[in-house]
Amino acid sequence: MSQSDTFFDYKHIWHPYTSMINPIPCYTVMSAKGVYLKLKNGKNIIDGMSSWWSAIHGYNHPILNKSLKKQIKKMSHVMFGGITHPPAIALCQKLISLTPNKLDCVFLSDSGSVAIEVAIKMLIQYWQSLGQKRKLFLTIRNGYHGDTFAAISVSDPKNSFHKIYHNLLPKNLFADAPISSFHKDWNTSDITSFKKIIEENAPKIAGVILEPIVQGVGGMNFYHPTYLKKIKNLCKYYSIPLIFDEIATGFGRTGKMFAFEHANVVPDILCLGKSITGGTITLAATLTSRNIADTISKSETNCFMHGPTYMGNPLACAAANANIKILNTNQWKTQVPNIEKQLLKKLLPLINHPYVIDVRVLGAIGVIECSRLINIFLIQKFFVKNGVWIRPFKKLIYILPPYIITNRELNKLTNVILEAFNHHALFI
Ligand SMILES: *Cc1c(COP(=O)(O)O)cnc(C)c1O
Repeated sequence: MSQSDTFFDYKHIWHPYTSMINPIPCYTVMSAKGVYLKLKNGKNIIDGMSSWWSAIHGYNHPILNKSLKKQIKKMSHVMFGGITHPPAIALCQKLISLTPNKLDCVFLSDSGSVAIEVAIKMLIQYWQSLGQKRKLFLTIRNGYHGDTFAAISVSDPKNSFHKIYHNLLPKNLFADAPISSFHKDWNTSDITSFKKIIEENAPKIAGVILEPIVQGVGGMNFYHPTYLKKIKNLCKYYSIPLIFDEIATGFGRTGKMFAFEHANVVPDILCLGKSITGGTITLAATLTSRNIADTISKSETNCFMHGPTYMGNPLACAAANANIKILNTNQWKTQVPNIEKQLLKKLLPLINHPYVIDVRVLGAIGVIECSRLINIFLIQKFFVKNGVWIRPFKKLIYILPPYIITNRELNKLTNVILEAFNHHALFI
């Protein structure tokens, strides 16, 4: 790894949401173990992001590695058209048993955005089967569902810059996002906007899609479970299928296996991704009810029209099976509440800082909402210098560490955040 390699990266390689003209230079990671990322200069830094919600058990996990090695000796991949294999069967059995009874059929795909495309296409075909041309989707503002076209079309219009893709995106319906937060009182008026839109458009709506409880990239808000209950009731009343996007929140992150369990409601379609393979390989799943699957299969095509080349990739399925095996030891049920307790204790006092508007914690997620924009370049430098990896956006500093983080490591992570607030230059 030479200086010219990093220069090559800087010059030629696109990184997520990054300009090709003078981008903020990337840090080179050579390896990772437990909660640590090892940088090119030999320094180990604590990953506060779990590689964007995915590495829940930490890096280089022996059980995950073993499952991958064992599978690679058998086969890395085989087509899923007309062929099946034990890792996919085992995974789908596990996913069906982890989720509510209603969710009975599994469609495997390669990424979260694709799992959303699949859910949306499924409902369009579902309604066609029933002889209706429904194509509108109802969602809430501040949502995020991925970067492909159908996914953008149901993500927040401002955050996902709908105007850039003007005329290419289906025009969907957006209700106001709930204001009542998870830990505060329920405010009845929160549902007004959603209720009005569904009442006025019900016969045209193919489905409702949202992130249950936690709105991720759209602002890291934790909303009131009653909102989800009300939405479920309205969907039920109008017979409109409900899609939950648990791509970020699934597999224990919020303190429940799935965030919708906080509200005790069950969706008709569930999208999973990110941590499904414990942060090792890309994989996603769309689970549906038997009724939806069967109805789609009665459409004029007799089948659902989708089939990614790497569908059901055996390596990814093996990793996902190992991830669920680790989760089934139930250690996460003590790890996540421990992290929550410590985050509350360490981060809540920041609420008194003049640059802080709100501090919120749910499960193993800690969020500090600032009154000022954050200088990402400088704060990242500051974090790395102090031995932690945190990637804030806009006015938000948030962390979602691997569940295996120790009290001492978490202490270091939160101490560096507290220290950042003593440096005015890191804020704009
Ligand atoms: C990350 C994310 C997606 C998109 O998943 P990709 O694997 O990045 O395509 C969709 N929905 C939510 C809630 C996410 O957090």
